[in-house]
Amino acid sequence: MPIDLVRILIAPLLLLAGAGLVFGRLTTLAPDLQLLLAALPYLLGATNLLLAYLYNQSRAMLSALNLLAGYALIQQCLQSPLAEPDNFVLFSLLSLLLPFNQLLFCLAPERGLRNRRALAMKLLPLAPFALLGLLWQQHWLAPWLYQLPAPLHELAVEARYLSTASAWFCAVALLLGALVLHFRRTHADGAMLGVLLTLPALFFWFDQPLISPLLFSTMQLVLVQALVFHSHQLAFVDELTGIPARRALQEQLRSLGRRYTIAMMDIDHFKRFNDRYGHDAGDQVLRLVASKLREVSGGGRVFRYGGEEFTVLFRGKSEEDALPHLEQLREAIAGYPLQIRRSDRPDDVDAGRRQRSSGASGKPVQVTISIGLCERGPTHSDPDAVLQQADKALYAAKKAGRNRTVPSRRLRQRSRRGQSDFA
Ligand code: GH3
Ligand code: MG
Ligand code: MG
Repeated sequence: MPIDLVRILIAPLLLLAGAGLVFGRLTTLAPDLQLLLAALPYLLGATNLLLAYLYNQSRAMLSALNLLAGYALIQQCLQSPLAEPDNFVLFSLLSLLLPFNQLLFCLAPERGLRNRRALAMKLLPLAPFALLGLLWQQHWLAPWLYQLPAPLHELAVEARYLSTASAWFCAVALLLGALVLHFRRTHADGAMLGVLLTLPALFFWFDQPLISPLLFSTMQLVLVQALVFHSHQLAFVDELTGIPARRALQEQLRSLGRRYTIAMMDIDHFKRFNDRYGHDAGDQVLRLVASKLREVSGGGRVFRYGGEEFTVLFRGKSEEDALPHLEQLREAIAGYPLQIRRSDRPDDVDAGRRQRSSGASGKPVQVTISIGLCERGPTHSDPDAVLQQADKALYAAKKAGRNRTVPSRRLRQRSRRGQSDFA
């Protein structure tokens, strides 16, 4: 489910801004803290490997490994001047290898970690790190110095370490990363772009003290935040509709004030709809209904309660206050022609035949919802009891013919009247 770009990019950009703020001040740190900072990219990298494994995220895992390998090589081999031919060749190749691998992992689709063979293939781009380390150790890189192409010797900016070759490659990688983010809009893609943005800065200011511990920690943190957002999304956002899930509602119910109204809503005859048009068409309807419900006015917050049931929570509102906003929603859905896409075909052949003969694909279809609502009151003061009352009102709305809204207060008044009539 696409998320808006600001929400995706805010955390990576804040982390990069934080790194920019401390940049240049790290030499004032006590030596013990400098040592700790040098270890930080390893600790954060290990955290990423663990989180990526737990959440089955291959791109985050491969990116973390790419950064771990690059950092280890810089720490082990590039702590002496780049004027030494072995170091210069290693640095030049690293300034291409790190962004190249990062771009590969950025472009790759997310296929998880369970397919071992595919994962082994994806690990291949990391092999050159080990090879480069070995060649550097044997002093076999120095003879390549004069064979490096000229753009790796030319500097993009005078007295800075970023070569024109690396600058161009990073610019292209950034552009492609931005395109990927534009189309996929996930936190993982935001993090990939954050890393692609930081790598040229690393090469540009490579001579600055403690630049690699600072920037590799920042890049690993950018990956950590994406994995944390991913886990949050798994827990609190409904995958099918993209609206907050039942767990998010439970969280909200814990922090309610003295006045609130809960509405329960349910799509009418949805089973019949599924049987007639197929399960995929049903899923589309759930998405379309959720996107309509999202537009609720009056400060209501919508959640998918489960199946074809939704909940709207109005803080600080009575049943009477919430009623017009819910009626507006109900009418909007009843009067909205839902266009079912042709490409979504039911899984089984019979359902497909039913879908075609019913004409659902291409033709607009109509669904209605029934709503029951209840405000917090003296006889039901905890959220679970209010929810139960709203559910009862929903049941009454169904019994009364569907496509209607029933406030719980009206039900109670009726039952009181019924009791007095009886007496
Ligand atoms: P009523 O008007 O009384 O609510 O009738 P109904 O058919 O909507 O109610 P019922 O509870 O009998 O059926 C709910 C159906 O919703 C059953 C199931 O096929 C469908 N459903 C639940 N979750 C999903 C889902 O995620 N996708 C699809 N396509 N269908 C779902
Ligand atoms: Mg139902
Ligand atoms: Mg239903």
